[in-house]
Amino acid sequence: MAPVLFTQQQTESWQREIIAGAVKVGDLRPLIWFIQMIVPLSKAEARTMTQAERQAHRYRAACWPSSWVPYVEVAPDPARTRIDAELLAGLFAAKNPPAMTFVPALALRSDLGAVKHYEYGSEWDLICSRCGGVFQTVDPVAVRLCAGCEYRLYRMAMY
Ligand SMILES: [Zn+2]
Repeated sequence: MAPVLFTQQQTESWQREIIAGAVKVGDLRPLIWFIQMIVPLSKAEARTMTQAERQAHRYRAACWPSSWVPYVEVAPDPARTRIDAELLAGLFAAKNPPAMTFVPALALRSDLGAVKHYEYGSEWDLICSRCGGVFQTVDPVAVRLCAGCEYRLYRMAMY
């Protein structure tokens, strides 16, 4: 089950207030964007759940791969970084049923401590499944082959 970072939907005006507050104290770094996945909940289902269960069902942190939560720094330019978060939300939306909504949401960096997380677009160390070498990629679900092995496999397939 996807982790929960925030149990409500955030309006954009609310987000602007949070950001304005951080600007006022001169530090945006405690804030991050994550993608909130809003999952529909039928009335019948809702009746059988506690309030906490309903929130945990409806407002999850989008994760990929498996339970890893990608995040985007809010600093240094919240308007620009929000666009990155929206693009990421669009990727999630494209891969999921239309009933699920994906929106950029704010959280405190300290909240990430409770979940597996990575900065979206940052490089990952992967281990090549063929030669065992370590290589880096920005795509956490990349084919697990280093460039050398990929090239050799390609050559073998071609000739
Ligand atoms: Zn390799």
